[in-house]
Amino acid sequence: VNIYSARQEALIKPQLDAFTRATGIKVNLVTGDGKELMQRLRAEGANSPADVFFTTDAGNLSAAGELGLFRQVKSAALEKAIPAAYRDPGGQWFGLGVRARPIFYVVGKANPAELTTYEALADPKWKGRILVRSSNHIYNQSLLASIIAHSGPEKAEAWARGVVANLARKPQGGDRDQIKAAAAGEGDIVIANSYYYAQMLASGTPEEKEAARRVKVIWPNTKDRGVHVNISGAGVTKSSKNSTEAIRLLEFLVTDEAQKIYAELGQEYPVKRGVALSPELKALGDFKPDSINLALLGKHNAEAVRIFDRVGWR
Ligand code: FE
Repeated sequence: VNIYSARQEALIKPQLDAFTRATGIKVNLVTGDGKELMQRLRAEGANSPADVFFTTDAGNLSAAGELGLFRQVKSAALEKAIPAAYRDPGGQWFGLGVRARPIFYVVGKANPAELTTYEALADPKWKGRILVRSSNHIYNQSLLASIIAHSGPEKAEAWARGVVANLARKPQGGDRDQIKAAAAGEGDIVIANSYYYAQMLASGTPEEKEAARRVKVIWPNTKDRGVHVNISGAGVTKSSKNSTEAIRLLEFLVTDEAQKIYAELGQEYPVKRGVALSPELKALGDFKPDSINLALLGKHNAEAVRIFDRVGWR
């Protein structure tokens, strides 16, 4: 099985090795930037050697599906292991790990009781206090897409405008950088993915660990739609010459054993219910995940990007 992966080798190699040990099927791994790998798949077309494409974010997986890079897969094992919200209704891609994008606050600097929803972030009382990365990044596009899906484009635009008015600084850096900036006093409230925070808590670097300890998670919207969640996942390519083996690989990745390794390496929530969480994620406590089908994040991506442009979320 030939894999193109936007996920780092360290996050998936152990499960691929376990797959080869269990089945005798050899795996070749090419890792790279997600957008570049998608371009490469497009350029190679039917001649592509790739059988499986791994990437993060349902927005990216949907985009790959829209480009016709995936084939439809029908697998009872995948359908049983993966909740319907976390896979493409057309069988083109499948979630393998789940991540949440909650709110974090600096302990002692903001009252978590006043931040129980994403909508609360647009309240003018938080002026100059919110840290979040650029809107060029798919994680924010998918968060806004989820708000469009639930509340419609007008409310989503008003929300984005409100958040921009409350930013502590011009968006820069990744999610970890927002947590570090908050710990350093540049802002009080952060939007970031759960695994970055869990990785920082588990970090061997004292500064990262200390920064993470200064902030705490808030699970927003638990009384209504739930916390915005997303996936890392994969699909079998349209060009695949080894699709039987490729499907076997995906099915292997949703076994309890592989799910536990996959989730722990990336500090993600297992996509399959009943698989144990890492100690760091367990410590963050339970939350209610948004239950919309994540294909909707792809559907509303273009609208989200237009809204970010209009409201000046750079
Ligand atoms: Fe990430």
